[in-house]
Amino acid sequence: MCTTTRSIGSRKVSVALTFDFDAESAWLGAFKVDTPSALSRGAYGANEGVPRILKLLEKYNLPATFFIPGDTCDRHPDVVKAIAAAGHEIGHHGYLHEAPNGLTPEEERTMIERGLDALYRIAGVKPVGYRSPSWELSKATFGLLAEYGFGYDASQLARDRPYWVEDQGKQTNIVEVPGAWELCDSAHFLFAYSPVYLVGLSGTSKVEEIWVEDFNGAHEEGGDTCYVLTMHPQIIGRHHRMQMVERVITHIMEHDGVWFAQMHEIAQDFLDREKAAG
Ligand SMILES: [Zn+2]
Repeated sequence: MCTTTRSIGSRKVSVALTFDFDAESAWLGAFKVDTPSALSRGAYGANEGVPRILKLLEKYNLPATFFIPGDTCDRHPDVVKAIAAAGHEIGHHGYLHEAPNGLTPEEERTMIERGLDALYRIAGVKPVGYRSPSWELSKATFGLLAEYGFGYDASQLARDRPYWVEDQGKQTNIVEVPGAWELCDSAHFLFAYSPVYLVGLSGTSKVEEIWVEDFNGAHEEGGDTCYVLTMHPQIIGRHHRMQMVERVITHIMEHDGVWFAQMHEIAQDFLDREKAAG
């Protein structure tokens, strides 16, 4: 039976279900294509992906975190409002999915401000967390996150548990809640013909094996491990992939000591433990 517990004493793993609701901005900002066909792939995430995801989360009464670019808020306000209304956390994910390593510090500042404006204007949200578009960062990123009051980042990949963000050799007050490409749907499933060819389209049996075994390892190791799935409504929202996600979720729920949490809760839990440790 699943026992959702925050106490580190009985907890074996923190599990975060995260969804990057990139919609059209993935194609406009990351792939830099604006054809109707590419944009329609992004729209699939809003039209089909998010409703299916919300339904699955509601079925199992699970919390989730959605990282949403400002452009998605402006194109799909009702879908974003439905995510907020369901009680899920919303984090910052750029404005037009601009990779920060391709921006000047001033352009990056503008991107952060435009993203904050859209999240507040559409969803009434002042996000605590930031996940950079494409998991890319610049040397200016963490200074900007500190300046704008972010509590955690979800863009780095250095550990299987939360840790302090270092900015050019100095510890910051920002918590890293790391991800992993192995636990990201786009690495396995995303097909693209142009501007780059991505083979994608993996069968779910392979990805399910990777996701389940990575969870099993995290659970077995225990302690402060976290297991962060990164998914995209326009990718994971297909029927066969949603069935896989449901199987992975029910596998996780069969284990004891699992804490399903939003990302800001995992970051806060790290802060609490650091404080307690003095
Ligand atoms: Zn993204």
